[in-house]
Amino acid sequence: MTANPVFHLEDVSFNYSGGRPALNQINLSLARAEKLVILGPNGCGKSTLLKIFDGLLFPTSGSFTAFGQTVTEEVLEKGEFAADFRRWVAFVFQDSDIQLFSSTVLEEVSFGPLQLDIAPNVAVARAEEILKMLDLIHLKDSQPHQLSGGEKKKVALASSLATGPEILLADEPTNNLDPRSKSWLIDLLNQLGEAGKTIVLATQDLEVAAQFATRAVILDQDHKIVADGSPADLLADKELLEKVNLIHEHWHEHGDKSHQHEHTHRDEHDHDHTRE
Ligand code: ADP
Ligand code: MG
Repeated sequence: MTANPVFHLEDVSFNYSGGRPALNQINLSLARAEKLVILGPNGCGKSTLLKIFDGLLFPTSGSFTAFGQTVTEEVLEKGEFAADFRRWVAFVFQDSDIQLFSSTVLEEVSFGPLQLDIAPNVAVARAEEILKMLDLIHLKDSQPHQLSGGEKKKVALASSLATGPEILLADEPTNNLDPRSKSWLIDLLNQLGEAGKTIVLATQDLEVAAQFATRAVILDQDHKIVADGSPADLLADKELLEKVNLIHEHWHEHGDKSHQHEHTHRDEHDHDHTRE
């Protein structure tokens, strides 16, 4: 086990009501400043794992320890640890529309800082600062719901970062982003990583894993960890990636020659069967 991990999961299983398993005996320790991607096919449990890390769900069995404290529903209800945990851990939801609720971008990004024990004008100044840093200040009076998908994702990130979290959790953050927004996001995540933040992404995007992470964990259809290691090693293991349905091979006929190559799966809908 990692020395003084920020997060530690011990034999964690999670079943949604109705009993279907979503996580199966997960053991995982996360060190400070680690940049982890959780990879795996649809339904393997990535979002559930992030929700446990964010204290939104609690293990059905096993334990989740954060900053040395066992995290339970009671512990997060009130008190100093609960306040610290909420400040230190931020979550960027997969669906920005669920996350964004204010009538302007500035209000949205000020919301978190205004909950902190600082003067309101200082909180708003902090929100403006983060909007400037992320090159979003021109949107400050816009309505979040009227923004493009990429802009919504950026505003959601800005509001997650405005309270200065130590740990950033993001669920499929590059989904539906155009290439420019996606490389903007990867650059930003890399900058945050260099600044010492601990970052955990759930993704099916192997490019993100390759360009960003220092560590990758793969979950399979049985909701278990089947690999934990360096992204370069895991991404080179085509047999494993194929087995867990992160890539699959198509045979292509080219006259009398045939060759194989892999396709990545983002989600079921943007599956590209086009023949070259
Ligand atoms: P992933 O993010 O990897 O696609 P999830 O964590 O969303 O996987 O889901 C893991 C399993 O739990 C899946 O079988 C999924 O159908 C089930 N599941 C997810 N959310 C719920 C829910 N709110 N109620 C019941 N089952 C759920
Ligand atoms: Mg998910």
